[in-house]
Amino acid sequence: MSSQPTDLFEMALARLNDAAKYCDANEETLKRLRHPMSIHQVSIPVRMDNGELEIFDGYRVRHNDVLGPTKGGLRYHPQVDLSEVKALSFWMTCKCAAVGLPFGGAKGGIAVNPKKLSRLELERLSRGFIEQMSGLIGPDIDIPAPDVYTNPTIMGWMMDEYSRIHQRKIPAMITGKPVPLGGSLGRDDATGRGAYYCIKEMEALEGWNPTEIKVAIQGLGNAGQHVARLLHQDGYKIVAVSDSGGALYCPEGLDIPKVIEAKNTHRSLEGLYCKCSVSESMPCDNVGTRSITNAELLELEVDVLIPAAMENQLTVENAERIQAAYIVEVANGPTTPEADSILNNRGCIIIPDVLANSGGVIVSYFEWLQNRSGDYWSVEDVQEKLKSRITDAFKKIHAVKVDKDTNFRTAAYVRAVDRINSAIEAQGTYS
Ligand code: GLU
Repeated sequence: MSSQPTDLFEMALARLNDAAKYCDANEETLKRLRHPMSIHQVSIPVRMDNGELEIFDGYRVRHNDVLGPTKGGLRYHPQVDLSEVKALSFWMTCKCAAVGLPFGGAKGGIAVNPKKLSRLELERLSRGFIEQMSGLIGPDIDIPAPDVYTNPTIMGWMMDEYSRIHQRKIPAMITGKPVPLGGSLGRDDATGRGAYYCIKEMEALEGWNPTEIKVAIQGLGNAGQHVARLLHQDGYKIVAVSDSGGALYCPEGLDIPKVIEAKNTHRSLEGLYCKCSVSESMPCDNVGTRSITNAELLELEVDVLIPAAMENQLTVENAERIQAAYIVEVANGPTTPEADSILNNRGCIIIPDVLANSGGVIVSYFEWLQNRSGDYWSVEDVQEKLKSRITDAFKKIHAVKVDKDTNFRTAAYVRAVDRINSAIEAQGTYS
């Protein structure tokens, strides 16, 4: 029977315990990391278009700020709850520390299905959230960003609301904004691109020929789409992709630009599957293309599996049946600790979320720097700096992995905990 904790935050802390065995962190550092520094929960009243009042639950958890102002996204999803936001905030602390950013970690969210709200309802909800959190966030305090089902438009409304409350323009209070409002060029594809640079590092380490590498991607949201596009351009064979409506599979490799176009035109892959095996147009002309379920996608015979959707996708239930030799976690927390040990014992190589999806927060850091200096960079500069930062983090984490004879995840956490520990020790005893 599974002894796995069901609370997502408790599950997330299991990684800390693994890393603790490999580093010299003070027990007090570990103790601090087991407790978020502050938790804020608000009720957000929103006047709906039909005149009725609805109340939504909003959260912001600041996990740890020893390395700098706290940083992390805001998620709009019906399943958002405190335990999830706590876990996500902990992962942000570890992510920023593991890749060497001067930020702590935080996360927030609203329990809502944004697809059911009109644009004006969504704007009122987003402004209402900022109104209630305005004293808790700011460029030197806590800096939100997009996450699942939030986007630049929402960040723009939030920046405007915050600036209105404080009576001056404060673009550095949030990242992932629209470019005309101070957003960074290259932020839109940063998460997918960062994962792509990590895969290129694996490619160099393992001597892969991309055309021989079969890839399956679960989740065709912002990050999933860009990693699919970049890998496809390099000749990788993307045999399956999915969204919440189901998955599309073609053993010969999907025509990714067409699949992405179809997904974005129809907002979902659902309903397109039946057309694809017979249609001359979309979303894939290759004979043999068929629909499968998300669960089947995870268990396909591929070389690289990229979970790019939600947490807890690889679990004790399906870990034994996962055939991929490499997993690149573009989603946050897609692998449970139990699945992680099953996969590690089998020799599966996992590039963990705190490294693989760090491209988003790395370019958020660049956006924050640009807002504060007033000096804006070209997209080429952003991509070059992202490549150099994430590649450097990959190499440093790989060096720890080799040195400690462990896996990438534990190595990333060792690097994170060591940085946090040094900062806590430098701070003195009374803080
Ligand atoms: N939501 C993204 C993440 O999970 C980006 C966070 C940020 O840019 O602050 O890493």
